[in-house]
Amino acid sequence: MQVTVVGGGIVGLSSAYYLARGGADVTLCEKGSLGMGSTARSAGGIRTQFSTAVNVELSLRSLEVWDSFHERFDVDIAHKRNGYLLVTGDEETAERYREDVKMQNELGAESQFITPEEAKEHSPGLEIDDLVAATYNGQDGFADPNLAVQGYAAKAREEGVDIRTKTAVTDVHTDGDAITGVETDEERINADFVVNAAGAWSRTVADMAGVDLPIHPRRRQLAVVDPQRILPQDVPLTINLDTGSYFRPERDGVALVGGHFSDDPDIDIDRYSDSLDIEWAATAVEQAAEYTAYFGGDSRIRRGWAGLYAVTPDHHPIIEETVPGLVTAAGFSGHGFQHSPATGQLVAELILDGEPSLVDISSLSSSRFEDDTGLVEHNVV
Ligand SMILES: Cc1cc2nc3c(=O)[nH]c(=O)nc-3n(C[C@H](O)[C@H](O)[C@H](O)COP(=O)(O)OP(=O)(O)OC[C@H]3O[C@@H](n4cnc5c(N)ncnc54)[C@H](O)[C@@H]3O)c2cc1C
Repeated sequence: MQVTVVGGGIVGLSSAYYLARGGADVTLCEKGSLGMGSTARSAGGIRTQFSTAVNVELSLRSLEVWDSFHERFDVDIAHKRNGYLLVTGDEETAERYREDVKMQNELGAESQFITPEEAKEHSPGLEIDDLVAATYNGQDGFADPNLAVQGYAAKAREEGVDIRTKTAVTDVHTDGDAITGVETDEERINADFVVNAAGAWSRTVADMAGVDLPIHPRRRQLAVVDPQRILPQDVPLTINLDTGSYFRPERDGVALVGGHFSDDPDIDIDRYSDSLDIEWAATAVEQAAEYTAYFGGDSRIRRGWAGLYAVTPDHHPIIEETVPGLVTAAGFSGHGFQHSPATGQLVAELILDGEPSLVDISSLSSSRFEDDTGLVEHNVV
């Protein structure tokens, strides 16, 4: 079985690895360098606290790999199990949090619905006067996406994957309905299956095969900030879903501060700025100061960057065989790093076994956009 994977981010590398381990003859084409798309720009967050069962299951199956990544892949990805804390000052959101935690617990996640006072025990600098509830899971945390890329890439090579960087796929070949391979800027590569793992560029790759997928690039930023008050290294990654603000400790006492606070315009994917907007960074710090004492006027913005989310209308990925021979694994919004271990295994199952079994992903087919399936992920930033 010959498979060509388009995209050398964490999703493409994970897919290539599990495919090759399952016996496929895999070529991976990456137009730039491995992991230098959205993966390198991620905050590295890994959590189980989602509002739909399919996202929680993708998290739990992925967590099994993240928790043992060092042993499996011989790379220490600096996986910090600080937990995630989701806070809110809104009664309606609190009620939803309660329902989410019930569903997460039924699926096996150890999340808890807690009071603002209990939340403060996890994060002493939290300002709780305006908060009404929180959820917490100590299984959650964050890791270094670049190290995870190295782990998957090295093991994929060991399994025989032919990894080609600086190799752009320029066309997808079909014969009638069937996919027969890809054209790169250098040659034609025949394939029984093509995996579209091109992240924010996946709509363009789908288009090469004559398929229109609703996956849109959206710009998101992160700032590296010196807090005004010491940020303990063990505080959870904290999200205020009322405003979309989040932060987590980074090395050496600095914080990563993120969030999305404005409109979400279409961008030109080949010309977007990957630099930090200083106005956005000031807003991100102000928003974080609204509910914590860690940030405020004496915080210092050191640097930062922008990257791309690949966003579908319901903020869930598309994982499916879109047309015979074309497997799509894209549209992960802000969750593609953490869901990549389960996704790679699902892609391998789809291609090698004919159907996925790790997680029921029938709800992640692109046909869901033809009618309203009610798949809504509330916990997005
Ligand atoms: C600011 C920010 C914070 C984030 N935080 C988190 C987080 O905390 N947790 C989390 O789970 N996720 C997070 N994400 C999302 C996460 O980064 C992505 O979902 C994930 O990296 C997607 O991986 P990918 O492999 O699909 O895409 P990418 O890493 O973008 O890889 C796709 C690759 O395809 C290549 N490509 C495109 N077109 C072609 C072509 N024609 N031929 C060959 N190669 C091609 C690109 O060069 C690119 O390298 C964040 C994203 C951003 C921007």
